[in-house]
Amino acid sequence: MLTTEPKAASHGASAATADGGIPLIRNFIDGEYLDGTRWFDKRSPLNHAVIARVAEAGREQVDAAVQAARAALHGPWGTMTVNERVDVLYALADGINRRFDDFLAAEVADTGKPMSLARHIDIPRGAANFRVFADVVKNVPTEFFEMSTPDGAGAINYAMRRPVGVVGVICPWNLPLLLMTWKVGPALACGNTVVVKPSEETPQTAALLGEVMNAAGVPRGVYNVVHGFGPGSAGEFLTTHPGVNAITFTGETRTGAAIMKAAADGARPVSLEMGGKNAAIVFADCDFDAAVEGTLRSCFANAGQVCLGTERVYVERPVFEKFVAALKAGAEALRIGLPDDPATGLGPLISEEHRRKVLSYYAKAAELGATVVTGGGVPDMPGNLKEGAWVQPTLWTGLGDDSPIAREEIFGPCALIMPFDSEQEVIRRANDNPYGLATAIWTTHLSRAHRVAASIEVGIAWVNSWFLRDLRTPFGGAKQSGIGREGGVHSLEFYTELKNVCVKL
Ligand code: NAD
Repeated sequence: MLTTEPKAASHGASAATADGGIPLIRNFIDGEYLDGTRWFDKRSPLNHAVIARVAEAGREQVDAAVQAARAALHGPWGTMTVNERVDVLYALADGINRRFDDFLAAEVADTGKPMSLARHIDIPRGAANFRVFADVVKNVPTEFFEMSTPDGAGAINYAMRRPVGVVGVICPWNLPLLLMTWKVGPALACGNTVVVKPSEETPQTAALLGEVMNAAGVPRGVYNVVHGFGPGSAGEFLTTHPGVNAITFTGETRTGAAIMKAAADGARPVSLEMGGKNAAIVFADCDFDAAVEGTLRSCFANAGQVCLGTERVYVERPVFEKFVAALKAGAEALRIGLPDDPATGLGPLISEEHRRKVLSYYAKAAELGATVVTGGGVPDMPGNLKEGAWVQPTLWTGLGDDSPIAREEIFGPCALIMPFDSEQEVIRRANDNPYGLATAIWTTHLSRAHRVAASIEVGIAWVNSWFLRDLRTPFGGAKQSGIGREGGVHSLEFYTELKNVCVKL
């Protein structure tokens, strides 16, 4: 019988064990692991068992973390040259790779995701995020202008980049290490210090990264982690702290709006990567098999808990029935299972709370009269896995663009498939949504591919692919999916203050 025992990663300093062998995940402040104001339970998505106890940071710990980060700005970190910082960033990438198995175990324990996914995406990207931004800051050019002056001597202008200061980093649970280092990497590369608030659902890899920071010789206070929740907890205490100079956030749109309000006090800048309701657009002239494979991945990877994932599939009418049948077959071939089984294609959702949300949409779709192509419920899991956050991969047809199933972000392994008749029509319908994060266009018609990519109101348009990411490119969302762009030199716009120096000759 398939059962699984509560399991957490093996840590060093970041996780002492309490009675019963349950790891204690502590805050990381000024280079040390510290308790908070109380402990909360972290439960396994697989079976709801407690796998760790986490130290929730109160105002006092958040304040200590911000003070430590501020002090570090003026310490050895602040006086390092760019090349010295670049070396530290490479050492951090190496440090993650050296502890690869520990990060893998921590991420998989927190999320329940297939180990193959974390091995190929989450952890390598965690290391790559330090390497890429080290290269960006090493190679970034600057502006230089000569000007004339009334006395004829002239003047020169050059722009230099300076850190913004203490950056508050608020993270989600779906790709914890990947999305956290996507912000910590450029923030440190630019000479800032950070206070990170990981999701309450995924505290372990952020805590573990503290060990890597210490091993790499990163000065105390440069990287701090405070655990806890949003309102009334570490998230709110951090985003409202006047000592935080800028806030970068990934998560739900309504949380981003709350953070923007908090940042308004003190007129602090925000970078917001938020929710999506992404469309795949499948033209009849597509490479059919590639479109099916890509769309299946975009709907079901990470159990649909990817901000860039597809929840609306528009299919041109001549291939509609055939495409629906192919997606159904693909969804039904996905093996639901444990992370360490290499055959597993679909793991559980992150938590029972999130499962309740996803299942409420499954129920709503049924109420609205959707045709359930496949799934729509909960799989029959053996033994103690019955307590886990499992749902079936689900596809619907028979609802229109105005239904909540087509408009609201569900963030589960599910999609509504709808037919369309013309290019203009599908552009209009895909754009008729408050979100604007990503889209995947499947066509072999060259001009159409460019036309549609130009017309869709999103931050990222893929043509004949999905989730291909070059970390030098701008990343972010249009409309309610985001404010600002990160990636490559675009990250520097947020993580640095650009200062012009004018020198009279
Ligand atoms: P969430 O908004 O519930 O939580 C994100 C983080 O914000 C957590 O650490 C949480 O504790 C904290 N938080 C919540 N309320 C807060 C408050 N008032 N003040 C300060 N902090 C607060 O998001 P989630 O459920 O963790 O993640 C899923 C969401 O993230 C989805 O909407 C998904 O689309 C989005 N997401 C977007 C991107 C992107 O790049 N655009 C990437 C991944 C996930």
